[in-house]
Amino acid sequence: MNKGYINKIIPFSSVDGPGNRTAIFMQGCNFNCIYCHNPETIGQCNNCGMCVNDCPQNALMLLESKIKWNEKNCCGCDNCIKICEYCSSPKAVEMTVEEVINSISKTIAFISGVTISGGECTLQKEFLTNLFIKLREMNISIFIDTNGSVPLWVDESFVNSFDKAMVDLKSFDEEEHLMLTGCSNRIVLENIRYLNKIDKLYEIRTVIVPDLLNNKRNVNEISKLIVELNPQIRLKLIKYRPLGVRNNLLKANIPSNEVMEELKSLSEKIGCKQVYIV
Ligand code: SF4
Ligand code: SF4
Ligand code: SF4
Repeated sequence: MNKGYINKIIPFSSVDGPGNRTAIFMQGCNFNCIYCHNPETIGQCNNCGMCVNDCPQNALMLLESKIKWNEKNCCGCDNCIKICEYCSSPKAVEMTVEEVINSISKTIAFISGVTISGGECTLQKEFLTNLFIKLREMNISIFIDTNGSVPLWVDESFVNSFDKAMVDLKSFDEEEHLMLTGCSNRIVLENIRYLNKIDKLYEIRTVIVPDLLNNKRNVNEISKLIVELNPQIRLKLIKYRPLGVRNNLLKANIPSNEVMEELKSLSEKIGCKQVYIV
């Protein structure tokens, strides 16, 4: 049985899709977004042991060349994450489908669904397909939150196993997307069209970052795409916040409420029916 590499599980989240949801953050991402606010989900721990001495609670140790995390001792200070040079976390763990299901079982009575986020969750789609088969039996909705970089149209069994997808479109402009993430947006755009065609596209998300992106052009182009596909597709305009962002990569201002409202109005004027600011 294959295992999932998981950064953390948040039992209750109201910001990862509709209703009260359990959010599962997978470890590992193929983008390297300048503004990533969870950079510790990008890399794979190489067991270098550098974080052990920075743990104030003796919750970390190197045992047989493998990092071991003692959850009971951990106070959640995140010192280990801050010093890791590999964008990883010693708290990421491998879990079987059964272990994840056991974890969700404890809160199942209080949630409407599960959202798989990251990192980039579709990099582990084989594990997720197996997990979703079990989640189906629990009669809850299954959402994925993806950067859209993995071609979904080639894997029907995976696509059929979840209900809806929330897709990040970091920038409509290819050059800007490349600058921001290190990767092209070509597959992201194809995935958006594909998911819409099969009625699995729940939401497109984009982050508004002053001084880094041409936000007006971006919202303009994304809105035109939404109107072409289906004006009812939700557009979430996410206000950039510096929390967790690597300071050496980006020093940007937080967009004002006025800027966010202007962009929302622009999108609505183009014809988008569901635009949200968060
Ligand atoms: S989390 Fe980072 S610093 Fe700690 S052992 Fe893994 S790679 Fe090294
Ligand atoms: S968050 Fe990391 S450094 Fe802090 S107590 Fe837990 S394991 Fe140790
Ligand atoms: S896609 Fe998400 S997790 Fe990956 S680097 Fe970008 S912001 Fe971070």
